[in-house]
Amino acid sequence: MSLPRIVCPYSPPLLQSFRGRSVAVRVDDAARAAHAAYDVAQSGNELFCVIVESRLPLQDISLSEELRGIPLAVMAPSMGRFRDASEKIKAWRNFNLRVYLPCDGAANITALKILSSLGVQSCALFGIGHDDWEAISDLMTYAVLGLFPHASMEPFSFIAKNYDAGDYLDWGALYFDDPKKFLHLDGEGRVALSRAEREAGQFVAGCLAECDAAPALAAVRERTRAWTANFLNNTVCSRCPGWKVCLGKFSALLPEGSGCSDFFASMVEAARQYKRLTAPPSEMQVWRP
Ligand code: SF4
Repeated sequence: MSLPRIVCPYSPPLLQSFRGRSVAVRVDDAARAAHAAYDVAQSGNELFCVIVESRLPLQDISLSEELRGIPLAVMAPSMGRFRDASEKIKAWRNFNLRVYLPCDGAANITALKILSSLGVQSCALFGIGHDDWEAISDLMTYAVLGLFPHASMEPFSFIAKNYDAGDYLDWGALYFDDPKKFLHLDGEGRVALSRAEREAGQFVAGCLAECDAAPALAAVRERTRAWTANFLNNTVCSRCPGWKVCLGKFSALLPEGSGCSDFFASMVEAARQYKRLTAPPSEMQVWRP
């Protein structure tokens, strides 16, 4: 198994404290992204992407030409006014970038559709407590089954393409949230298993070097098996028709009956339909006596 990638804040001393890892480096301003990418390479690590965690709407984010070849995850609270954002967003089609927007209102759901229709890859953030599941379901249908050409929108496109009726599908890595694939460092180099745990100050190791020690490895193992608790405790997730493509991701965040189950059941149905529509045509068999 390959080593998990590292998600860490942009800090040259922190980057210099380890080598040979694939790194997603976080900045709070797009203006720092090129420096961050350069310093990852200088540190003896490999750049996976730069995560731009901006407080500004997309209309106020500028991406310089030097960022064109750099993989970017741009996380913003909203699009802002489309007429002010449209020209720069059209130019972003030529960047190696994905835009993350929260589905916390009708404006952002429309913005995700606009981004996709303009050819910009995007990722919807939902399950945050005040979700309009019907609107998110419409968005998912547009992303998976929409007839007009559009860029992929995660996690819907990923789930539709990778859905397998006989297997579970984990898409947490799209959000850098899968401890098998990503470990999160804080500014002091302490290691957390997710972004939420880093923000909550819950660490499994004091530094990356300690991650090979038994307690940290056990924590990763335990996390990857955490889903089994739903079946042991017979939670609502264990009976959910969308379980195979959700794995109880929102069980701790959303109250029972919040609508996530209906949404993920629709997601499974859309994924099945997508598979039917995109299956290669089977060779016609001429009847035989
Ligand atoms: S959709 Fe909701 S109920 Fe279903 S598995 Fe996910 S968190 Fe549990």
